[in-house]
Amino acid sequence: MICPLCNSESKFAFEAKGFPLRDCLKCHHRFAEIAADESHVSSIYDDSYFNGGGAGYSNYFAEGEMLRARGRMYAGKVRKFAKAGKMLDVGAAAGFILQGFTDSDWQGIGLEPNGSMAKFGSEKLGLDVRQGSLETFQTDEKFDLISMIQVVAHFYDPSKSFENAANLLKDDGLLLIESWNRESFSARIFGKNWHEYSPPSVLQWFSLNGLTDFLKDFGFEKLAHGRPSKKISGEHAKSLLKYRLGNNFLLKLIPSKINFPYPSEDLFWALYRKRNAGILPANVV
Ligand SMILES: [Zn+2]
Repeated sequence: MICPLCNSESKFAFEAKGFPLRDCLKCHHRFAEIAADESHVSSIYDDSYFNGGGAGYSNYFAEGEMLRARGRMYAGKVRKFAKAGKMLDVGAAAGFILQGFTDSDWQGIGLEPNGSMAKFGSEKLGLDVRQGSLETFQTDEKFDLISMIQVVAHFYDPSKSFENAANLLKDDGLLLIESWNRESFSARIFGKNWHEYSPPSVLQWFSLNGLTDFLKDFGFEKLAHGRPSKKISGEHAKSLLKYRLGNNFLLKLIPSKINFPYPSEDLFWALYRKRNAGILPANVV
C-alpha cells in the first residue's frame, strides 16, 4: 500500500487492534492499511461513536460546555492573526466547538459526517451544521478560517482533504489544527500501546513536523503552535480507562461529574496561513 501523503512505498510497522499499520519509506508518515472511503466514514461515526465509549466518546453531550470553552480558547489563539470572520469547522459533531467560536464573534458552518449530530447542532443549538466530510464537501463560499480539532487523524484521504481546504480558504486564510503527536514523549514511551493507535476510527498518525512539511505542498505556512490544555469529564476518563484496562474495580472511585485535566503532552495545535500566490518573489517559478 502506498503512502497517502506522498505516494511512496511503505513497510509494515506493527498491528494494532487487528489492523496492520504501515510506515512510509520516504516521508515516514504512519497510516493504517485500510481501504477507506465515504462509506467507512458513515459506518465509523454512527451514533455509538458519540455515546458508546470505546475509542470515541462515552457521552459527547455531557462534554458540551467544555468543548464550547475549548472553541473560545482557540478563538483567542487565532485572534492575533484574525479577529473574526467566516469559518468552517470540520468534524464539528453537534457544533459545541463552533459555538465557542460564535461566542467570540465568528460566523460559521460546521461540517459533520454523522447525521444525528448535524441535526442536533442545527435544531437544538441553532447552528449551521451540514452533513458531510471534507473529502467531498463542495460550496461556493470562501472562508477566513478552517478549523480541524481532532480531525486530521481520521481523514481517509488527507491529500484530497487539504487540497479542498486550500480551495475553500480565501487568500491568506487560516487553518487551525489540533491533533495527536506521534513523535511526543508519551507516544514513544507507550510504543504500540499508545492510546491513539486505535484503528479503524483513527487512520493517520502525524507528527507536528510531518504535518507541517506535508502542508507546504498545499501552500500552507506555519504561524504558531503549542500544546493545548484540556479537561475531560470523569465519565469520559472512566470510559477511556475501561477501554484500556477492562473492568477494574478502581474505576468506581472516579467521580463522574468532576472534570479532570487530561495529560495532553501528546497533543498539539498549530495555526497555518494559506500563502497568497501574489506575494511570492518574482524569481520563483
Ligand atoms: Zn509518505
